[in-house]
Amino acid sequence: MLLTTMGVVIGERTYSENDKFIDVFTKDYGIIEITVKGGRKLTSKNSASTALFAYSKFCVSNRGDRYYLNSSEIQYSFYNLRLDIKKLALASYFAELLKYTVLSYDSDESYEIILKLFLNTLYYLEKNTHNIMLLKSIFEFRLLSEIGLIPNLIGCSICNVYSHPKMYFDIQAGKLYCGDCFLNNDGYNIVAVNESTLSALRHISLADLNILFNIKVSDRLLAELNKITDKYVIIHINRKFKTLDYFESIS
Ligand SMILES: [Zn+2]
Repeated sequence: MLLTTMGVVIGERTYSENDKFIDVFTKDYGIIEITVKGGRKLTSKNSASTALFAYSKFCVSNRGDRYYLNSSEIQYSFYNLRLDIKKLALASYFAELLKYTVLSYDSDESYEIILKLFLNTLYYLEKNTHNIMLLKSIFEFRLLSEIGLIPNLIGCSICNVYSHPKMYFDIQAGKLYCGDCFLNNDGYNIVAVNESTLSALRHISLADLNILFNIKVSDRLLAELNKITDKYVIIHINRKFKTLDYFESIS
């Protein structure tokens, strides 16, 4: 059976002298592994469209649970990402996080939206329009929100109040408490969030993708945001990522 879909290459492995496997995050089928015959030859007509982070149209034949590349057509290469070691490291971490979260997530309704989130993040990363650490917080927190780990940031989980001079975010439970309802007893994963941090978290988890990246943050707010989203990933994903360790070692 022949299938055609749009997707971005998030991993590649050598398979023989001339051939390679690529992991492609596709709009229609989630993450699939495609065998690219002759894909390692410099003369391969598919070399640009099957390179790491290439966004391409893929036509594949499907035999059993294996996919074989028939033809591909590049749409956007993100080539410049591969020239900057820090950006490459961060993009590789995003790809590893995707592989882990999307594979274990079996509804296809969100593939398209998650693919758009990933492509937009890579685009802004390549174009230097945003602080690289802001892109990290946006991608992590929104991805987790999209795969069913969205926290309830609408209001205090007890009295529903939307804003309060003192608000607390329970990172583990994904809940807010206002200063009147919060009981300071089991506060290990609970952080106080000021109004601007809370509004940034609300924006990242809930805003339409078309305006998601229209966000400006001060250095101080960014540091707060990074602390919270780092912890959110650690608690809810509960896994070490080699690519993240590497990114942190060069940051
Ligand atoms: Zn309350």
